[in-house]
Amino acid sequence: MEKLQQIRGTHDLLPQDWARHHYIAETARRMAEWHGFAAMATPMIEFRDVFVRAVGEATDIVSKEMFRVTPPSTEDGGHEREAMVLRPENTAAIIRAVMNGGLTEQMPQRLFYYGPMFRYERPQKGRLRQFHQIGAETLGVFSPMADIELISLAAGILREILPDGGRGQFRLLLNSLGDSESRANYRDALVEHFGGGKFALSETSRERLLKNPLRILDSKSPEDQLAIQTAPQLINFLNEPSRAFFARVQDGLSALGIDPMVESKLVRGLDYYSHTVFEFVTDKLGAQGTLLAGGRYDGLMAAMGGPALPGIGWAAGVERLAELIDSAKIPTPRPPILLICFGSDAVENRGMALANELREKGFVVEMAMQQPDHKRLQKALQHANRVGTEFSLIMGPDEFLSDMIEVKNMANRESHKIAVAELPSFLAKMP
Ligand code: ATP
Ligand code: MG
Repeated sequence: MEKLQQIRGTHDLLPQDWARHHYIAETARRMAEWHGFAAMATPMIEFRDVFVRAVGEATDIVSKEMFRVTPPSTEDGGHEREAMVLRPENTAAIIRAVMNGGLTEQMPQRLFYYGPMFRYERPQKGRLRQFHQIGAETLGVFSPMADIELISLAAGILREILPDGGRGQFRLLLNSLGDSESRANYRDALVEHFGGGKFALSETSRERLLKNPLRILDSKSPEDQLAIQTAPQLINFLNEPSRAFFARVQDGLSALGIDPMVESKLVRGLDYYSHTVFEFVTDKLGAQGTLLAGGRYDGLMAAMGGPALPGIGWAAGVERLAELIDSAKIPTPRPPILLICFGSDAVENRGMALANELREKGFVVEMAMQQPDHKRLQKALQHANRVGTEFSLIMGPDEFLSDMIEVKNMANRESHKIAVAELPSFLAKMP
């Protein structure tokens, strides 16, 4: 039979990989909790409209990266309005859930999430079709304090999980898109710069010139680079309130010992983004070096049909982080005590029950499954060495009948026979 393949751009999390992911997600969740963030989750499938309204038809995510989910009863995926997709990102779904769940009446909200996201991209290093994100969103706060807090949380998580406190391993790029008035002025300046026939733009950029000229600045096409380098800078178009907002964010970050680099070409070219945008980037992962990206989206909830509540958030790619973290920090599970029972079903049953009693008292107990007899005991004990057991407990037919058990110290190979009833206090005294 042909070997079953896994889908390109997906990753299995074998136990060691799972431990890395879980460490990242759990550290982030715990640190977010210290800041008052509550963890939540939304379904992995949503109506396509959730992302169309939020992220926009003109983006890569919506125009070409969403996996459609086809219900068994409809070959074509059903009516367009009811089309379902695997979520490509979580901010839109979180906002939808907040609106559906009535949380808009209880502002502010600080929310944390972790889970898989799906994008139909060309698979390559750091770019998967199913990947995982951790993310944080603060809703209902206009104050730049929310921006400062969220960026500080992100920096804190990176410092915690990266080796050597993250020193020299990432940079924070920061920019401001200003308010809608500033952005409108800037957009006009960009249309004048990119339009007017001075530059031969790529096809994508020519399209963006009509729909969303800010996104031309995102282009990686070589033919666009000269036009981008000579483009007017957004920072020069910020009106007074927008300048003050940006200055407050920068000041607040530097007061916390976080030094961003202002990167005037950093845009998240979606209409609902405003003011703060940021990325944490690294040189250690080659081309896909963005670890974490986020921004303020004051217009999003209204664009999704809800109240005009502001928001700001970020998301980080767990697979990218997992490549960089300090393996020494990943908690290793406590080595189990190995319980070896053999001789008859009755001994095995007694052993299984004893294992449960010990587990209830807080010991980690693994049952040996090799069904050993006296001759094959050696095999079971070899397994003990593989799982790092410090003590093996051995019960054969003789021990069973006299209610005794043999405790074998795997380090010095010493053995003691003791009464089963004494076992918990005996083990508790062990180092
Ligand atoms: P890019 O411009 O590189 O495509 P993006 O704007 O699509 O990035 P975001 O939507 O901001 O990325 O996602 C936030 C983070 O999620 C990224 O910085 C990255 O760490 C991670 N990420 C995004 N897409 C993928 C993917 N296909 N595979 C793995 N991680 C990803
Ligand atoms: Mg992308």
